[in-house]
Amino acid sequence: MPKKGIMGGTFDPIHYGHLVTAEEVRDYFGLDEVVFVPSARPPHKIGQKITDPEHRYLMVVLATITNPYFSVSRVEIERPGPSYSVDTVRYFRELWGGDTEIYFITGADAFAQISTWNNPEELLRLCTFVAATRPGYRLQHLEGPLKDRVKIIEVSALAISSSEIRRRVRRGESIKYLLPEAVENYIYKNGLYRD
Ligand code: ATP
Ligand code: MG
Repeated sequence: MPKKGIMGGTFDPIHYGHLVTAEEVRDYFGLDEVVFVPSARPPHKIGQKITDPEHRYLMVVLATITNPYFSVSRVEIERPGPSYSVDTVRYFRELWGGDTEIYFITGADAFAQISTWNNPEELLRLCTFVAATRPGYRLQHLEGPLKDRVKIIEVSALAISSSEIRRRVRRGESIKYLLPEAVENYIYKNGLYRD
C-alpha cells in the first residue's frame, strides 16, 4: 500500500522545524512522498498579516528542492475561499485513490486546536494524523476514537518558528541556520518581513 504524507502550513517562511518534522515522519513511517501544501487563506490566521501566497509557495519550493521525497502542491492556492484542511485531504484522497494511506502531519500545537477546525470528524476518517511534539508543547494522552487515528511522534527538538524568524528580520538580526540558505536569500532579495 502506498503511504503518503501531507504537510500543511502557512510557511511564512518555511524553516528547518517544518523540514526536520516532515523528514523524520517520512523516515519513521516509511512514506513514499511528503507533499507540502502552503495555505492560501488560513482560517485561524484571519486578521493577521500574511505574506503573498506566491512568495510563500516559492520559498517552500526552494526549501524542498534537495529532497527527492518532497513535493509542493498549489491546491490551496488555486482554491478560492478559506483553506480548510478537510477539503485538501478530500482532494488528495480522490487523486491518490482509496488504497493510499494518507498521513496528515502537524505540529502538536496545531493538532491541539483540531476541535476548532472545519469538520474534524471527516478529516480523521480520511487520514491518519501525525502530531509531532515540538519544544514547549506537551500533548496529553489521547482517549476514545481518536486514539488509533492519531500517532504522536517526538521529533528532534527545534525551537524554531516562523514568527520568530519574521521578528528577527524586522529587527535586522541574523536568521542564518534557522532555514535553508536559498530561502534566507529569497527573503532579503524580495524585502520580506521588513515593514
Ligand atoms: P507561526 O510562528 O507564524 O505560527 P510556525 O513556525 O508555527 O509559524 P506554521 O506554518 O504555522 O509555522 O506551521 C505549519 C505546521 O508546522 C504546523 O502543523 C506546526 O505545528 C508545525 N511546526 C511549526 N514549527 C515547527 C517546529 N519547530 N517543529 C515541529 N513542527 C513545527
Ligand atoms: Mg504556527
